[in-house]
Amino acid sequence: MNILVLGGDGYCGWATALYLSAKGHRIAIADNFARRQWDSELGVQTLTPIRTLPERIRSWKQLTGHGIEFLSGDVTDYEFVSSVVQSFEPDAVVHFAEQRSAPYSMIDRKHAVFTQVTNVTGTLNLLFALREFRPNCHLVKLGTMGEYGTPNIDIEEGYIAIEHNGRKDVLPFPKQPGSFYHLSKVHDSHNMMFACKIWGLRATDLNQGVVYGTMTDEVALDEALTNRFDYDEIFGTVLNRFCAQAAVGHPLTVYGKGGQTRGYLDIRDTVRCIEIACLNPARPGECRVFNQFTEQFSVLELAHLVQAAGKKMNLHVEIDHLPDPRVEAEEHYYNARHSKLTELGLKPHLLSESLLDSLLNIAIRYRDRVDRSLFLPKVNWRNARNERRPKTMTAESPYEAPFEAAPKRNGRAFDQAD
Ligand code: NAD
Repeated sequence: MNILVLGGDGYCGWATALYLSAKGHRIAIADNFARRQWDSELGVQTLTPIRTLPERIRSWKQLTGHGIEFLSGDVTDYEFVSSVVQSFEPDAVVHFAEQRSAPYSMIDRKHAVFTQVTNVTGTLNLLFALREFRPNCHLVKLGTMGEYGTPNIDIEEGYIAIEHNGRKDVLPFPKQPGSFYHLSKVHDSHNMMFACKIWGLRATDLNQGVVYGTMTDEVALDEALTNRFDYDEIFGTVLNRFCAQAAVGHPLTVYGKGGQTRGYLDIRDTVRCIEIACLNPARPGECRVFNQFTEQFSVLELAHLVQAAGKKMNLHVEIDHLPDPRVEAEEHYYNARHSKLTELGLKPHLLSESLLDSLLNIAIRYRDRVDRSLFLPKVNWRNARNERRPKTMTAESPYEAPFEAAPKRNGRAFDQAD
């Protein structure tokens, strides 16, 4: 298949592009490197040193013989998106290219507006480009389990059968997102459902849980293919952050009581889920929803697991309960269905001791790169404005405003990275 990976320089996108390339698909990555720029804007960096995308792609070609095409551009630019869709002729588009941090979206008005405009515009552009130039192409879009919030009933996969005043219908499951970022994903979901209905497009909305790990078989082939491992309070996902904290003897930062329960999955399952979605496309006119996670944990359960794994490696791991900077239930009912991907063949990698060992070992290997000042939350949901700038920030910094963060370079022709 021709598979276009939007956001293929990022955490999930890079691992997915390699996995699908190894399976023999023709892959093109489109990315504007916005994420690398947002890291600079905030003074954060991945724990694992990552190479530039052209270097990564060159190494992949040398190691495996598989080429990956690359286009530099911004998905909020319709000219770019439509030209890529026309020239690459994808059978599936996997869309990762969004601002994906809830705390980033809650810094202040500017970051909230930026997040929603970027995310909603990119997805709308893609829907229009598919309608105009590639209507049979299958859109595989990354959403998040956070779209549902934490209702006091079981969470279904996208839709719920309801009986109301004696009448029945199957309706979109109610959404109660917990940040301006999560709201952007809900807006995307509605736009996708609508576009499928009016234009007969085919789409899969993958409501993904929190991803952990950094290694896949392909990434593990060589240092040059190393994937990012975010541990900071803005972009770090919780389990990766706990491992970095354990590695440097910093207490694990549990927000509030730690009863916040969410769905989680190993990055090796993320890449497989994307493959499953691509190989089993939605029908024309169908906007299908899969809940993409394999296990659910509370934050405190994860902290205890890291503490126990750390103890076996002679790490002294303490757990701190900080006031919750987010507005969320600290204890609640949570039971989300996630059977559709398993029915299509997903064999989950469940969180085991060996995986925690390997995550901790990665964190220990790079612990000299840990900046402890990045662990503590500085963005409080209750504030309309949070001071979240690196100490070194100057007025002349190119990363002063998120709107100017990513230089627009529209790759109309394919940059052959090999
Ligand atoms: P990431 O920030 O590591 O990667 C996103 C990539 O998209 C980056 O390379 C970035 O440069 C690119 N990008 C962003 N805006 C762009 C634009 N306008 N034009 C072109 N490229 C752009 O994020 P990730 O963790 O890999 O997440 C990927 C997707 O998966 C996101 O949509 C996110 O919401 C979703 N998701 C991630 C997680 C997780 O735990 N990481 C959980 C649930 C859902």
